[in-house]
Amino acid sequence: MFNYYPTPLPDEHLASVVYRAFLLTYYKEIEHHIKVRHKQSFFDTPINCWVPAYESLFCHFSGLESVDTLLKRHSNVMDYGMWAAKANNTKTLADSLESLSTMNWKLSLYVATDRGWRYCPECANEEVKQHGTSYWHASHQRYYQRTCPKHNTLLIYYTSAKFSLPPIGESSIPASTQEIEVDRLLAKIVCTLRQLPHREQKKRLICALKQKLNVAKNMTRHSHNGRRLSQLHTKFSEAINTPEILPFFTFDKAISMLPPLTSMTGIYHMLNKNNQMHPMWYLMLIYAFLDEEDMLIAFDSTTDWDDFRWEVEANMMPISA
Ligand SMILES: [Zn+2]
Repeated sequence: MFNYYPTPLPDEHLASVVYRAFLLTYYKEIEHHIKVRHKQSFFDTPINCWVPAYESLFCHFSGLESVDTLLKRHSNVMDYGMWAAKANNTKTLADSLESLSTMNWKLSLYVATDRGWRYCPECANEEVKQHGTSYWHASHQRYYQRTCPKHNTLLIYYTSAKFSLPPIGESSIPASTQEIEVDRLLAKIVCTLRQLPHREQKKRLICALKQKLNVAKNMTRHSHNGRRLSQLHTKFSEAINTPEILPFFTFDKAISMLPPLTSMTGIYHMLNKNNQMHPMWYLMLIYAFLDEEDMLIAFDSTTDWDDFRWEVEANMMPISA
């Protein structure tokens, strides 16, 4: 696409490298250039980056780093690949990239943190002094992260619709202790899950949740277990309706007004293995329902899961809890 690409800076997102390459070559809007030359729009949000632009980068950097190393260090492919059924069948991150590009996530519209590019003003100000340019950090585009771990500040959304680099000279907003704590916790869950073989991640997660919640096959709102679903529905809404968690999403308070949470069978649909939810929802299910002990058992990489069945038997449960 371009003849020259600058070397990626530490933790720089590849989209940022492409934009810097563009600045060195052309002096028009990059969106216009891409649309005219390549007949497609991209780079509008971090989640929409699964595009041929990467191939051009791979060719350019192939002598320096392997494609997988490049994607691991300078993209969020690993974050989006978690629990993605199609990505699970692939061997390399480059294969994952290919399958992720066609992925149609359920409920992805509500995930605010991957709807636009985010940056830390402190990082941007420091980097312009150090490297002569600000840039998008790959780690700051994680949908499960709202704060900069280096400066304990809130990541800021870049408000312009145009793809660009983070603005310089902006002031930062300190993150609260709870916000930092939630980020730490979610990152820890992701780290634990990464220890597991890729193909087992989704299966283990759904099985562990079904066991814990006793969500069985044929469980509907009309069955005697309807009350259980109703309780879970309330608990999940409460876990999300907090000042620390709500900003991860685009809806306001009272998430229970939105599908699939309008229905108390929403949780059941989320745990359907054939549905491909946005990975943030799986993280939220863990956050709301599994404690450390459950995770130790379910995500223990030494456990052999070959005989594990998807469905939990429909148990009889007492109506009153
Ligand atoms: Zn920072």
